Amino acid sequence: MEKVKIRDVFIDNVTLEEAVEKTIELSKTMSANIVITPNAEIAQLCHENEKLKEVVNSAQLVVPDGIGVVMASKIIGKPLKEKVAGYEVAKNLFPHLEKENLSVFFFGSKPGVAQTAAENVLKDYPNLNICGIRDGYFKDSDEIIAEINEKEPNVLFVCLGAPKQEFFMFDNKDKIKAGVMLGLGGSLDVMAGTVKRAPDFFVRFGLEWFYRLMKEPKRIGRMMKLPKYLFSIIFYKLSKGKNA
Ligand code: UDP
Repeated sequence: MEKVKIRDVFIDNVTLEEAVEKTIELSKTMSANIVITPNAEIAQLCHENEKLKEVVNSAQLVVPDGIGVVMASKIIGKPLKEKVAGYEVAKNLFPHLEKENLSVFFFGSKPGVAQTAAENVLKDYPNLNICGIRDGYFKDSDEIIAEINEKEPNVLFVCLGAPKQEFFMFDNKDKIKAGVMLGLGGSLDVMAGTVKRAPDFFVRFGLEWFYRLMKEPKRIGRMMKLPKYLFSIIFYKLSKGKNA
């Protein structure tokens, strides 16, 4: 799978379909593979936090979950095929998991959210094996890991927000018995219906971030990472030229 290097961060140049196919393949290995879905905010954080960069660059699959990362790839002249939202990857896994009888564990979000998400998903995929459900608020991660390992899921959704979920997966990789873990931020909230996804118009024009900002103005601080990221990429390209 081709990787595109954007500054020092490696992103897989995949379509949504290829990302789903790869995740299914990883889910059968039972070696706790990691899938990361960075948007511009996380990509920028990688330049500020060495450990996060190591986590991203050592993951088995890294998909560009945001228009900012796709724009950055164009700025440096190595365009990624498309934006691949983590939520879309998750949703598109379900028919394959159901068909191949692979299990999935929903971990993260506020108490009750994963349960409602599971109920909603089961309406569309009644034979899907959702083998575990657990909220994302805990003190003792070993207790959570024991719960996960009891089920040995093929797929583990880790929805703790970034970068908490990335560190949880990386730090516990050797202890967790699962095929593949995906860091999916607020995806369970969307599946549960507690958070609405942006309408098509916003998605089509790459304005999902703007919709989110209108809904949750307190995210402004976090969202300033998007222009910061793009400016840093432009600066990087100008200073490195063809060697970017
Ligand atoms: N969350 C959690 N445990 C925590 C902190 C956050 O389970 O200790 C959940 C939170 O309830 C929400 C998700 O993590 O469901 C973070 O969502 P957000 O939209 O902020 O994700 P991001 O934008 O970071 O992908």
